[in-house]
Amino acid sequence: MGAHFSCFYTPEDRAAGLPEQALRQAREAGRFAAEGCWRLRKDGSRFWAHVLITPIFDRKGKQLGYAKVTRDMTQQKADAERIAEVTRTLDLALENMSQGLCLFDPHGTIILINRRMDEIFRGAGAALVPGADFLTLCRAMAGAREREIAAPGVLAIRLGGNAQAEAGQPEDRAEQYAQALCERHREILRRHQQWRSVEALPDGRAIALSHSVMADGSWVTTCEDVTEQRRIEAKIQYMARHDGLTGLPNRSYFNDYLDEELQRAQKQGTRVATLGIDLDCFKEINDLHGHAAGDTVLRAVSQRIASQLEPGEFIARIGGDEFIAVKRFERQAELSDFSARLVTCVSEPVRLDGFDLTTGASIGIAIYPGDGTHRDQLVSNTDLAMYRAKGSLSESICFYESRMDEAERERRALAGELWTAIAANQFVLDYQVQTAIASGEAIGCEVLLRWHHPERGLIAPDSFIPLAEECGAILPIGEWVLRTACQQAAQWTFPRKISVNLSPVQITHGNLVTLVAQVLEETGLAAGRLELEITESTIIGDKERALDILRRIKALGVTIAIDDFGTGYSSLDTLRSFPFDKIKLDRTFIAEISDSQQAKAIIRAILALGQSLAIPVLAEGVETDEQLSLLQAEGCDEAQGFLLGRPQPLEHFRRAHAVVGPRLVTAQTPER
Ligand code: C2E
Ligand code: CA
Ligand code: CA
Repeated sequence: MGAHFSCFYTPEDRAAGLPEQALRQAREAGRFAAEGCWRLRKDGSRFWAHVLITPIFDRKGKQLGYAKVTRDMTQQKADAERIAEVTRTLDLALENMSQGLCLFDPHGTIILINRRMDEIFRGAGAALVPGADFLTLCRAMAGAREREIAAPGVLAIRLGGNAQAEAGQPEDRAEQYAQALCERHREILRRHQQWRSVEALPDGRAIALSHSVMADGSWVTTCEDVTEQRRIEAKIQYMARHDGLTGLPNRSYFNDYLDEELQRAQKQGTRVATLGIDLDCFKEINDLHGHAAGDTVLRAVSQRIASQLEPGEFIARIGGDEFIAVKRFERQAELSDFSARLVTCVSEPVRLDGFDLTTGASIGIAIYPGDGTHRDQLVSNTDLAMYRAKGSLSESICFYESRMDEAERERRALAGELWTAIAANQFVLDYQVQTAIASGEAIGCEVLLRWHHPERGLIAPDSFIPLAEECGAILPIGEWVLRTACQQAAQWTFPRKISVNLSPVQITHGNLVTLVAQVLEETGLAAGRLELEITESTIIGDKERALDILRRIKALGVTIAIDDFGTGYSSLDTLRSFPFDKIKLDRTFIAEISDSQQAKAIIRAILALGQSLAIPVLAEGVETDEQLSLLQAEGCDEAQGFLLGRPQPLEHFRRAHAVVGPRLVTAQTPER
């Protein structure tokens, strides 16, 4: 009491003359009010005040003084500030959400909506603002115009689009869609507290919609555009089920498809055929024209087939040049028609850089239920039929027959084991001596491969070499033979030649020249001690290439013999095309030399040929003294056969031939 009115004011306000101004205003206007201002407490601390000053008059109207009411508003101010802060943060969050958000009151009127909601349905034309209702949101969804969604190389993904199916003007359809959507979701809101679903909009987009209903019946709806997500998911799914090169279904898709077809066929009692298709000459196209050309052919053929497919027909690419098709059918004629169409699609030429590339097809067919009731069985029987078609010169379409089974299965089991036989140490080499007839001197030996199979016992090369050539195992096997023979020969104390058989496959595939050079270097065997035996068929295919390879091998110092001469083409041309170091006269002639004048005449002709070209001739399969003396009389240079020495394991061969030949004693020992 007694203090001046201005003691409530801060020093700054006092200096600014605010106390006087306040009183003046109260006096003149009858009232002074300050909604918020800083005032001082008795202890000098500040507080946020609400102030009201009114003048006081006596009955006669004379001013007596002022009444001042001050309220401490510090707490309220702090609360208000916090609320403002929270609101700002919330607004920020709402505006920056990736989802559209909309708060509805219990009647379905929009109370709050964020900007994202509008963005998601941009172009919708419907006013998404507070006060609008749920149907407005549904109209926005129905009317939104967006890009067509289609992934490159992927089938256009049309998600739902119920409205599209219905007739009428686009506007009518949109309105129908909106009404249906609205009704469905109002029903959902009545029954569920939480709901999440994905809506396929008429414009092709996918919207994830979720509702959370609160106790008073109001609810929050959020929307998210998941089209891109869906598109990526669909693309991944597509890629997992299709072949990248041709776009055709892949094996995994085929498996599912066939399983479904078989289930359906079982229920309906219909038939289903699986057709294995293998392109003929595809490897040659790849080898001759490069892989890009091969790819072009595959793509062209795939496209043709795909464009021909009718309902109930399916094709997948399941390997390099292997396809498998499925055909649901009732009458055999439908199946024949389908396989004929496949053959046409494959055999029409593919034009490439001015070339016409042509392949053919070998087709194997197995039919449910006769040839198998399960997928695996059908597929493996289809394969069997296809292999037969591939091996046959006359038939390009083969149906599965149960007797193909056993022989073929056995063959394939053996082929599978070939690949592991090297690592399992199941191969060994035998050596058979080659002798100069005139001197009786052992001049070399032929290296012959044997397979000690753990269950089947000893297998002769004639029973597995063709198999190894077919499946490609001949490449590692041939390499093993060459390396092992050179290694062993390099350690002998007698520097005799070794003669190693080469498969045509080794010449057309793999890098033979490098391999030979490498093996010689590795093993230290003198190149002059190695001879390679090739058959005529080796240089029939790609003649120029084969001759080039042979020339380069010969340049290393290795000699080349032509094997089994007289049985194949035996053209003079072959002999002239390459400077062979030896002609190996096939043993069938020797077997007949005593009895058949014709055999004798052929031997005589070949010996004369050898002489005129200055190529020594070796007679194979000499079994009797008579044969040997006849050959000697005809002037044959060398001989090989059971008479002179059987193919023997290395140890026996060393003992038998390290010093002298078995039959024909020579003047000097061969170890010089
Ligand atoms: P080939 O090159 O004509 O080998 C000679 C075959 O005649 C050998 O059969 C040998 O045992 C047999 N033989 C030798 N002297 C006589 C005889 O006096 N009478 C009769 N009847 N036969 C005789 P083998 O070892 O069963 O080899 C068969 C074929 O397997 C070989 O025929 C050759 O084409 C192939 N072969 C063997 N080893 C290899 C190899 O390492 N690589 C390749 N690619 N083929 C091989
Ligand atoms: Ca041979
Ligand atoms: Ca031979």
